[in-house]
Amino acid sequence: MSDFVKDLMAQVKAKNPSEPEFHQAVFEVVSSLVLVLERHPEYRKEKILERIIEPERVLMFRVPWVDDQGEVQINRGFRIEMNSAIGPYKGGLRFHPSVNLGILKFLAFEQVFKNSLTTLPMGGGKGGSDFDPKGKSDGEVMRFCQSFMNELFRHIGSNTDVPAGDIGVGGREIGFLFGQYKKLRNEFTGVLTGKGLNWGGSLIRPEATGYGAVYFAAEMLGTRKQTLEGKKCLVSGSGNVAQYTVEKILQLGGKVLTLSDSNGYIYDEAGIDAEKLKFVMDLKNVRRGRIKDYADKFKSAVYKQIDPSADHNPLWDHKADCAFPSATQNEVNGKDAANLLKNGVYVVSEGANMPSSIEAINQFIDAKILYGPGKAANAGGVATSGLEMAQNSMRYSWTREEVDNRLHLIMKSIHKTCVDTAEKYGTPGNYVNGANIGGFVKVADAMLDQGIV
Ligand code: NDP
Repeated sequence: MSDFVKDLMAQVKAKNPSEPEFHQAVFEVVSSLVLVLERHPEYRKEKILERIIEPERVLMFRVPWVDDQGEVQINRGFRIEMNSAIGPYKGGLRFHPSVNLGILKFLAFEQVFKNSLTTLPMGGGKGGSDFDPKGKSDGEVMRFCQSFMNELFRHIGSNTDVPAGDIGVGGREIGFLFGQYKKLRNEFTGVLTGKGLNWGGSLIRPEATGYGAVYFAAEMLGTRKQTLEGKKCLVSGSGNVAQYTVEKILQLGGKVLTLSDSNGYIYDEAGIDAEKLKFVMDLKNVRRGRIKDYADKFKSAVYKQIDPSADHNPLWDHKADCAFPSATQNEVNGKDAANLLKNGVYVVSEGANMPSSIEAINQFIDAKILYGPGKAANAGGVATSGLEMAQNSMRYSWTREEVDNRLHLIMKSIHKTCVDTAEKYGTPGNYVNGANIGGFVKVADAMLDQGIV
């Protein structure tokens, strides 16, 4: 580790104690950026890196609401406005009991580079709450969302900060949040993305993150003159990203063997086909059930519980060609990475944000597999949110094919940026360096242009 990285990380840890995920995200990016700083002393002189790791603004607020039993509940709400050098803050809202300041800061930090890579003019932000929508009635979710927006509305706007969904925030939650924003502001504006199709949403936005991660995998395979046809794939999660990852893999001729939730995972030897995927979508999006039900319904599948305290996740210990981590951060640790490599996996395309630990990433890079880090591979979601903003500004909607084509082109462009940048900085095939440096330079140059603000 260079002295510069060591000193900077010591400062980050001292200034942001108890935020291990934020330290991890900063370390991964800063380790790549050493290559750029050597060539661009102006970034060092103007303290671009020191400034980019400090959020422009952090909002933290009380979210009180009343449950179905008439009990008062109190959650904590956050919005991290990380960087607006190249556009309004943009990034999702996460509702999950594990949410805290450090997790949202890591997500907001990643978002800055990801948004820059998309080629669209979007800054980086992230927000959410420790509220758990699981097991709550629609009425409880609505009252929580309304209370959350009662504070958030004064900080966001279509030219200021445009939140979207993330874990625990899908179409239902975006609807309740938008309704309350509209009521408070008395204006109909593109202040959130992931909206319903009848009220300003974009076709393909629900599909975009998963589709994008698969397009990215296909591009990586293309560098070895291969396609997804016949490839065996492991997918984790069973939410928005996982579902559309499966759909696109099937369309491109691959075979999907696994899906999971926070309780366990299913392994379906026969493959998860379109019919079975339909069952999963109904199970997760309508009935809001558990993935275990899949194995009760389809006899070709087995269900196994996942023990979060175990030293590895058995989902990653099956013979396959490709892996699409699509659940949450640090779901692939060093041992999981070793299992993936041992089982023949040579493509990893991250639908989730920072799903691989630093130990896992180092193994993927050393093994020279096709490893697409989340900030590149899952950028299709926010890119299509950017397309939703463009359509809202025009008061016009593109067709499904138009949006999908643009998404596909953006994923190709992100892939090319990663490949070209990695090559330019002397680390060919290293998508981590490609994504980190490719995303950084545009934001850093904008910050130089705009002075010390
Ligand atoms: P969803 O809420 O739709 O689904 C999340 C899935 O991951 C569920 O199956 C959930 O299981 C599982 N999961 C969540 N937390 C944990 C945990 N701590 N341990 C194990 N499993 C867990 O979220 P999304 O599909 O939208 O998001 C998945 C990932 O993709 C996240 O990392 C998110 O940041 C990232 N992402 C999402 C984008 C989007 O457009 N939605 C864009 C870019 C990245 P359970 O139901 O049991 O909680």
